[in-house]
Amino acid sequence: MRWETLAEEKAAPALFGTASVTRTFDTPEFRGITFHEVRARSLVNRVPGASRMPFEWTVNPYRGCSHACVYCFARKTHSYLDLDTGIGFDSQIVVKVNAPEVLRRELAAGSWSGEHIAMGTNVDCYQRAEGRYRLMPGILSALIERSNPFSILTKGTLILRDLELLRAAAARGDVGVSMSVGFTDPELWRTVEPGTPSPERRLDTVRTLTDHGIACGVLMAPVIPYLGDSPEQLRRTVAAIAAAGATSVTPLVLHLRPGAREWFLAWLDQHHPRLRRRYDALYANGAYAPTWYQRRITRQVHELATEYGIGPAGPGAARALPRPPAAPAPPDPAAGTQLALL
Ligand code: SF4
Repeated sequence: MRWETLAEEKAAPALFGTASVTRTFDTPEFRGITFHEVRARSLVNRVPGASRMPFEWTVNPYRGCSHACVYCFARKTHSYLDLDTGIGFDSQIVVKVNAPEVLRRELAAGSWSGEHIAMGTNVDCYQRAEGRYRLMPGILSALIERSNPFSILTKGTLILRDLELLRAAAARGDVGVSMSVGFTDPELWRTVEPGTPSPERRLDTVRTLTDHGIACGVLMAPVIPYLGDSPEQLRRTVAAIAAAGATSVTPLVLHLRPGAREWFLAWLDQHHPRLRRRYDALYANGAYAPTWYQRRITRQVHELATEYGIGPAGPGAARALPRPPAAPAPPDPAAGTQLALL
């Protein structure tokens, strides 16, 4: 384990300009990853532009995500800390080590009215770092003690570690869980989501959750144009989602906002250079694929979902499933963060 003091930081980026950073270190069990432990001043975060989102409040105990999805649109948020949005986003993980205690305090405040809290909306709260820091059990306990409704969106199979807590919340009807699985193609997964559990393992996790009475929907995101959007691929993915016992499936087409766009297109040039011109045309008008394309994918997935007997997300699941959000605003590095996860 290598320890550094703040005084040893040569170039002090924005993150290290805050008094909240307590230590920065690498550890052999997480080779290539540097943790920056901070003490957050607040945790419950109001979503900017909440009118476009199905939830208003979020909790994010981490910044950066070792799941390293090439397309991740939370990448941009690392630039607010003067951290790199490419490899840096994947490997420089900010950990709010006091997250459970801060959340407890905020939920107990007279000003808090017990509204729904969404988690996994910025970066994955069940990424690998959670195996080390174990922040989620404290966070879930705080929410359960207050009977505060919440939802979790994740690609992490680590969520099963907290099965008993989730069961307790589900018994009261206070929890919505969604797994993110955009495709099942193993080759695509290895290159575009290199730090995540495989789609197969994620769907096994869906099965385990539902077997234990925790309804779990699937956010089919992202559907990647020309790589994961053929009728056969969509059918295979929806069939696998249905077989896993998911309660719903909601498709979301890849979007490429600044921060993610450069990183994704560099990956495309390396792995699928023949597609570059088609992408430039499809995303010529900005971050989103054209409406006709999005509608086509949505229609196909909904038809398949109906065929396989699961249907799209119902009103009860909608809170857990983010739609493409508004552009993020710079956050306070030590406070809660804004939305970003697919
Ligand atoms: S898309 Fe989600 S799981 Fe992937 S890197 Fe971003 S936050 Fe992590």
